Amino acid sequence: MSLTTLDNYFLPGSGSEVIELLQEYGERAMLVAGGSFVHGLAARDLLPGIDVFIDIQKLGLADVTVGSEGLQIGAMTRLAQLAKVPEVQDAPEWGAAKDALRYPPVQIMNTATVGGNIAAACPYFDLPTAFLAIGGNVLAQSNAGTREISLDDFFTGLFENSLGQDEFITELALSRPVPGSASAFIKLETNANDLAIVNAAVQITVESGICQSARVALGGGVNEIPLRSAAAEKLLKGQSLTDALLKEAGQAVQADISPMADHRASAEYRSAMARVLTERALHRAITRLN
Ligand SMILES: Cc1cc2nc3c(=O)[nH]c(=O)nc-3n(C[C@H](O)[C@H](O)[C@H](O)COP(=O)(O)OP(=O)(O)OC[C@H]3O[C@@H](n4cnc5c(N)ncnc54)[C@H](O)[C@@H]3O)c2cc1C
Repeated sequence: MSLTTLDNYFLPGSGSEVIELLQEYGERAMLVAGGSFVHGLAARDLLPGIDVFIDIQKLGLADVTVGSEGLQIGAMTRLAQLAKVPEVQDAPEWGAAKDALRYPPVQIMNTATVGGNIAAACPYFDLPTAFLAIGGNVLAQSNAGTREISLDDFFTGLFENSLGQDEFITELALSRPVPGSASAFIKLETNANDLAIVNAAVQITVESGICQSARVALGGGVNEIPLRSAAAEKLLKGQSLTDALLKEAGQAVQADISPMADHRASAEYRSAMARVLTERALHRAITRLN
């Protein structure tokens, strides 16, 4: 599709209208939230057969609630708005989100939405990797009601997610980690406007010097989807987090990734940097705990 072939542009005012439109137009329709990825998709010829846009900006869905359960983030929350939430700025447990929100250019921070960032299922975006390390659920609405999809199951392929044809994201619910937890995210990019070559994010929970649980997530061209490293998580759990162990955890992620090669980086470089960034993210999370 080129954007000139667009036939219909809808601006529904309610979730039920969105669902009706998704049902009526099926694969011809695409939701638009902040709209920042639309041109990128069109330019890469990734919108074949799409001639209907459903703009969801009138739905609201832009509140962020902080509670004992965690962070509930409306799908239409702009990245800049999330970055200003005091808990995101200050609390060690949301450190990975804070770190990831440092990277996008200011224009993208002000237009892009959290729902769009996740729904795009682009492995090069930063928030999916950070959110995967923290853990939580995507809330999706359809005629059947609201469904919770674990972030672990949400990304199914390059630009593909587990939403049904008539479903859309209303909220992201990040689970509040238990006390003694901290998270961190690090991105490798070629310049300040670049998408990630490699992303690494971790969340650790430490009690009496022992790692009770660990979540290690990688993104940015180390796989078609952001993914967790079971090998690194297993290695860390139940252990004292020594420098030597953090180095080993970095090496362990290399078994779980399938890095891509492109004009920005070779597969070998991505693999080596996944190791380095994982180790550094673990150090950063430990520093936050202390
Ligand atoms: C110049 C530039 C620099 C960038 N730099 C960065 C960066 O440094 N880090 C980074 O992480 N990202 C970066 N991005 C990507 C940016 O973060 C995404 O484009 C943005 O998050 C997508 O959100 P959006 O609201 O604009 O989504 P849209 O562009 O409106 O939509 C994206 C996709 O999600 C779908 N969608 C949107 N909302 C929903 C919903 N509620 N339910 C279901 N499906 C939905 C749409 O149908 C579409 O397929 C950059 C983009 C550009 C253009």
